[in-house]
Amino acid sequence: MAIYISENGFIALTLSAIETSIKYEATGILLGYEVKRKDVINYYVENIIPYQIAERTSESVSVLPVRRNRIRRVFPNYMKYKIIGEFHTHPEGNIYLSPGDKKFIRSSGYELEIVVAIKIGNKTRRAWDYNYKTKILSGSIDRYLIKIAGWRVENEKIVRQIITCPFAVGFDYLKPF
Ligand SMILES: [Zn+2]
Repeated sequence: MAIYISENGFIALTLSAIETSIKYEATGILLGYEVKRKDVINYYVENIIPYQIAERTSESVSVLPVRRNRIRRVFPNYMKYKIIGEFHTHPEGNIYLSPGDKKFIRSSGYELEIVVAIKIGNKTRRAWDYNYKTKILSGSIDRYLIKIAGWRVENEKIVRQIITCPFAVGFDYLKPF
C-alpha cells in the first residue's frame, strides 16, 4: 500500500500548512482516487481542499460534524475524484499522531489521514527527501521545515503507509539554495 501525492496535492498541502503556519492547525479533505490490484490498494492524492471554518488551536482542530457530512454528501456530484481521506497540520513540527488523532481517525469514516508537520527551521534548509525507514517525506520550503506522513485504518489498526511524491523530491532544483 502506498500514498502517491501529485504536484498539485503537494503544493496545496504545504501551502495550507504554511498559511496557518506555526500557530494553528489546518484540516481538510484529500481528493483523488484509489487503484486496487489483488490485495494491494494504492491511493493517489490529486488535490486537497482545506475546511474553511474549523475551530483551531495550536493543539487541536475540529470541524463541526454537520459541515463534514455536508461535504461528504455533496462531493459525489463532482464525479471526477472522490474523497479518499482527510489531512491536518501539526504546528511545532511533531509528525506523530496524538491519542486524540487516533481516536478521531478510527471514527472519521475515511480510511486515510495525512499529517503535515511544520516548524520554522531558522537557517537550516533541508533538501526534500523520503526516508524509507520512517516513511516520512521531509524538506524545506522557504524558512519552514515540513514533514509529511500518512496512515491508513486497517482492521481497526492505524498503519503508517509508504508515501511518495516525485515532485517534492525534485522540488529543490526549481529554486537552488
Ligand atoms: Zn494531529
